[in-house]
Amino acid sequence: MKKYNFGAGPSILPQQAMKATAEACIDFNGIGLSLMEMSHRSKEFQAVMDEAQALMKELLGVPEGYSVIFLGGGASLEFCMVPYNFLEKKAAYVNTGVWATKAQKEAKLFGEVVEVASSADKNFTYVPKGYTIPTDADYLHITTNNTIYGTEIFTDIDSPIPVIADMSSDILSRPVDVSKYTMIYGGAQKNLAMAGVTFVIVKDDMLGKVSRTIPTMLDYRTHQKKGSMFNTPPVIPIYSAMQTLRWIKQEGGVKEMDRRASERADLLYAEIDRNKFFRGTAVAEDRSRMNICFVMNDEYKDLEAEFLSFALENGMWGLKGHRDVGGFRASCYNAMSVEGVKALIACMQEFEKKH
Ligand code: PMP
Repeated sequence: MKKYNFGAGPSILPQQAMKATAEACIDFNGIGLSLMEMSHRSKEFQAVMDEAQALMKELLGVPEGYSVIFLGGGASLEFCMVPYNFLEKKAAYVNTGVWATKAQKEAKLFGEVVEVASSADKNFTYVPKGYTIPTDADYLHITTNNTIYGTEIFTDIDSPIPVIADMSSDILSRPVDVSKYTMIYGGAQKNLAMAGVTFVIVKDDMLGKVSRTIPTMLDYRTHQKKGSMFNTPPVIPIYSAMQTLRWIKQEGGVKEMDRRASERADLLYAEIDRNKFFRGTAVAEDRSRMNICFVMNDEYKDLEAEFLSFALENGMWGLKGHRDVGGFRASCYNAMSVEGVKALIACMQEFEKKH
């Protein structure tokens, strides 16, 4: 039976990228060596790094004056590197969930943090709007897609101060005006690659402005100057990123990813809204296209476990919602096919008929 992976991350990747990565682990480019055993300084791996960086720039339309860096440590390490490198006195954070809260917590180690807006009052089911951005803060930090709660910021906000965005779970799902950001970062294990690599897109001339001494490995300039090769980078995850980026390009780029994301989300939310068993948890206007969160209506709550097993029996993998929200979360990243979403909808309808 065909399995559909709705897991939130690590998550579905294009088949083509997974196959090519598996192959490179055994025999890279027909050289007769695994990519695992090859020097990251080899010209062969340098070509992988160069192509991955170039494709990120090309697909996202990264302007001149920005660098694409690949690091280890996950998005969680960026929570600390961001304030280390950018917070001189004060930073502004928008709190839209667990990850945004964690980012903010790290910033507090480095200076004053103003929480300019929060949706904690309603368990992060919406994205706060209409807040005032303090013009004396060093930067504004936002999380564009809230993986756990299924809310998303779809527009590149206008801000009087530099914007730094965690785009771990919606990078490459829509065109972004990179020039409106000082930095964009994220863990790769949703839309980009297998786990183990973090992407950073940073405006070069914004680096080196804080007065503190930054440990070498935590200083973005180290990695920017050395082209992500200051130390041994996660070679296989970077290779899988390159393969995923090739796939995105071949499929029509981020515009096409954007179209597909809307197609999938429109179909699934329509079923959630129609089917009397289910209801979405996020407010309609902020509903994420990447993580579609829904629960069973109160009168059917005791059927949740049954639906989960029914869905699993029908090949729907990774649907269980995060414990903070409960219910179900259908993560529909770039590599999820519209067929996968239709199969899930068929499953929801079948369940409705059964009861
Ligand atoms: N930010 C967001 C929005 C996330 O979804 C996640 C992981 N799910 C993280 C940060 C943390 O990423 P990592 O595990 O790479 O540290």
